[in-house]
Amino acid sequence: CGIVGAIGSQTCSPLLLDALKRLEYRGYDSSGIVTLDGSRFDLRRAVGKLVNLDAVLTQSPLAGTVGIGHTRWATHGGVSEMNAHPHVASDRVAIVHNGIIENYRPIRARLIEQGHKFSSDTDSEVLAHLFVEAFDAGLNPDQAMQKVLAEIDGAYAFAAIVEDFPDVIMVARNASPLAIGLGEDGSYIGSDATALAHLTRKVIYLKDHDYALVRADGVDIFLSDGTPANRETIIVAASL
Ligand code: GLU
Repeated sequence: CGIVGAIGSQTCSPLLLDALKRLEYRGYDSSGIVTLDGSRFDLRRAVGKLVNLDAVLTQSPLAGTVGIGHTRWATHGGVSEMNAHPHVASDRVAIVHNGIIENYRPIRARLIEQGHKFSSDTDSEVLAHLFVEAFDAGLNPDQAMQKVLAEIDGAYAFAAIVEDFPDVIMVARNASPLAIGLGEDGSYIGSDATALAHLTRKVIYLKDHDYALVRADGVDIFLSDGTPANRETIIVAASL
C-alpha cells in the first residue's frame, strides 16, 4: 500500500525503513525492502508491523546504495512472507507494486508456460517476470518500460530495480500516487511527499500513464509511449 525507493551515495536501507514508517498511516499487513549490493539482490521481508521488519534488519542489515521498499495491503494472495513485496525474479529484477494488475492471470499462465518460476500468489509478481522477459530480449530500461506498460491493465504505482542496470530505478504510475524526490545525496521515490520529507523537499509528482527513469543525479520522465514529458518540480513545505 506504500512504495519507497532510494538511489545515491548513502546506504539506503535505513532511509527506506524511515520512509516506510512515514507511510504507515496508509495501512498494511506486511512489509519488505530489497537492495542491490554490487550485482546481488538482498531481500528482507516480514509479516505484521514495521517493527518486525526493523527487527529483521537489525539482526541482518542490508548493504547497498540502491533499493526499494513496500508496505503491502494484500489484494491477491494471502498475507505471508512469501507474498510480501519486494518480489525478485530470476535474481535479475526486483519490484514493488501498489494496486492491482487486472490481467495478471493470462500473463502469468503464458510466462509459466515459457519456463518462468513464480514464488508468490500475488498479481504483482508478473511485473518482475515481464521485465526479465524484456531484458532477455535485449531491451534497455526505457524500451522495457514501454513494452511492459503496453502489456498490463489496472491500477498501479510500481518501482523496479535491475541487476544489469544498477544506476536506475524504473517507476510508473496509473491511478495510484507516486512522487519522486531529488536530494543532495541521491534521488528517492515514494507514494507521497510525506514519505520523503526526511530526505528532500524537492519533489515531482508523476501523472497517470507516466513512467520515469530515476538516477542518483536526476530523473527523466516519459508518457507510456516514450514521449518525453515535463513535470513541475515542487518545493514542499518544511512542516511535512
Ligand atoms: N495487489 C498487490 C498484492 O496483493 C499489491 C497490494 C498493495 O497495493 O499493497 O500484493
